[in-house]
Parts: sequence; structure tokens; C-alpha cells
Amino acid sequence: MIRNGSLVAFPTETVYGLGANALNTEAIAKIYQAKGRPSDNPLIVHVANLSMVEELVTEIPPLARKAMKRFWPGPLTLVMPRSKKIPDCVTAGLETVAIRMPSHPVAIALIDAAGLPIAAPSANRSGRPSPTKGEHVVEDLDGLIAGIIIGVESQFGVESTVLDVTGKVPEILRPGGVTREMLLEIYPEVRVDPALESVDANRKPKSPGQKYRHYAPKAKMAVLQGSLSFKKEVALERLKHSQGRGVVLASDELARELPDVDVWNLGSYAHPEIAANRLFDLLRMCDARKIEWILAEGYKEEGLGAALMNRMRKAAGGHVIKEEKQ
Ligand code: AMP
Ligand code: MG
Repeated sequence: MIRNGSLVAFPTETVYGLGANALNTEAIAKIYQAKGRPSDNPLIVHVANLSMVEELVTEIPPLARKAMKRFWPGPLTLVMPRSKKIPDCVTAGLETVAIRMPSHPVAIALIDAAGLPIAAPSANRSGRPSPTKGEHVVEDLDGLIAGIIIGVESQFGVESTVLDVTGKVPEILRPGGVTREMLLEIYPEVRVDPALESVDANRKPKSPGQKYRHYAPKAKMAVLQGSLSFKKEVALERLKHSQGRGVVLASDELARELPDVDVWNLGSYAHPEIAANRLFDLLRMCDARKIEWILAEGYKEEGLGAALMNRMRKAAGGHVIKEEKQ
């Protein structure tokens, strides 16, 4: 199907991908159409080996080689200078191309069997939470794609880290499965795109996808940031007085302080990777149950907590309830 220019969804270790032949312009057009994705949001190209990379770039920067050696296959996407072989619609007209070698055995087997690089954004309708289970893909794309390979639940549950290695200093354009702390081990100089942390709407993120409200449930969502006692106080107040059906997404530690009903569990506060793994599934469950408001507990921006908070804030459209500093 991939060789024929059709769309096939498949599991990866991050989230499910919606794949098409990365070298076929018509196949790529189908991705944008099925997802309802804005055409200025470029795709990640998935490869199974280094010779596929060499065809897609003008050169592999030394910075990129370092990261490949340490983190490939895995949840790290590298932005590199593109070659002429890659169609414009894949890169949304940019002079760079984003490439990743997934570690999921099914993903690698698919790319290998196709014998082609596969462009694959997340297999959700644009704007909806990313799919971490095969049934999420069916929910969004049934009837719009040729096939799906259903595997187990995604291991990470958040998308890959996007790292720009075209400059002198490597820059994180999107936090993800390979954390900043892990990147610091090979690049002491690594930086984070300042637009990611800025509330200034005029600052343009370098990763085009970061400017969209993403991963969004239908409910009105807010993220709670502060001490446990602050989060408890706000959540209790909300549960008692809010109109409409709502839920609090809380760590074990916060959930223990709240009544049982209308509190959904994100796992231990010490393990943001569990929360990251559950977040998108819970947000979809909110839609299925017609939840009208969501209060999500914020985590520390460390390790996978950085990717988790990035996705939570986007899902909430930037709505954060913060404890005033004393
Ligand atoms: P998705 O596969 O749906 O998770 O989205 C792919 C992400 O990779 C988007 O946020 C894009 O903005 C980003 N991306 C893809 N290509 C590039 C590129 N050449 N430069 C910067 N970011 C990119
Ligand atoms: Mg996506």
C-alpha cells in the first residue's frame, strides 16, 4: 500500500504514525487531506537505515552524527539540510528536513519492507490528541486511510523530541521522548527554542507545528501549577462549585487528597513518564464522556516532565492557573 501511494497507519514507540511514501507528492497530499493538517506544518520522515538518510540530506552535520550514534533508533527527530530528492510538500517549503529512525520493531519492519523513507505525522485528525492506541486511529481516520497496523500501546505516549542540528549549537524545537537532560550528556551547549517557553504570541517557534493549539480535547481545560496544597485547594474548590461535568487529572499524591469521584489518575508524581503515557488517552476519554471542563495537575519541567507540560499547556490553549509566589 505504501509503495502504491496509499496511507497506512502504524505503531511507533512515541505515538501512532500516519505513513506515506516520502518521495511521492500525491501520497503526501493524502496525508494533509486525511488529517486536515495545515500545509505549512512539515512532516517527519522515518527511515530504517543510514543510507536512506544520506539520500534525503545534502550532508549529515557532525552534530547529527553524534546524536544518531547515541539516540537512534529512538524518539529523536533531527532537522538537517534537505536534498532535492525530498518533495517540497514534505518540508512545507523549508530548506531543512526532519528525520527520525524509530525503534519500534513494527515501524522498522514496515519501512524496511517498503524499501522507502516513510513520511509520518501523528495518525490523528489535526488538533485532536495524538493516538497512543490503535483504536484512537480508527476513531479519527476510519474510512480516510487504506490501512492500519495495530500493535500494542505506545511506549512513550508523547511525540519525538525535535532537535535542530543545522547550526553551531543544537537547539530543541519540541521537547519529547529524548529529554534535555539526556541531550546535555552529549551536548553541554544544547539550547531550547526560546519561543517554546515564551508567552509572547508574536515570537514564532522554529518548529512550525508548535504554533497550533494541539492535542486539544473539546472540554475547557486548565493546568494547575504550584505546591501540592495549592493544587489541592483549587481542585477541591472547582469540584465543589463548578457547573457541568468535569474531571481533575491528578497524580497519586494529589488524588489522595481529593474525593474519589471525578478524579482520574496520572500515576506517581515522581514519574512524569507515566503521566505522559496516559495523557492523550485520558483527553480522548474526556471527549467520549462529554466532559465539559478539565483541571490537569502540572508537573515539574524535568526529564519527560518538560514534554508532558508542553503537551498539557497546548491542550489547555495556554490556560495555566499558577500559585502566586509569596
Ligand atoms: P507530528 O509528526 O504531527 O508530530 O509533527 C511533526 C513536527 O515536526 C511538527 O511540529 C513540525 O513543526 C516539526 N518539523 C517537521 N519538519 C521540520 C523542519 N524542517 N524544521 C523544523 N521543524 C520541523
Ligand atoms: Mg501531530
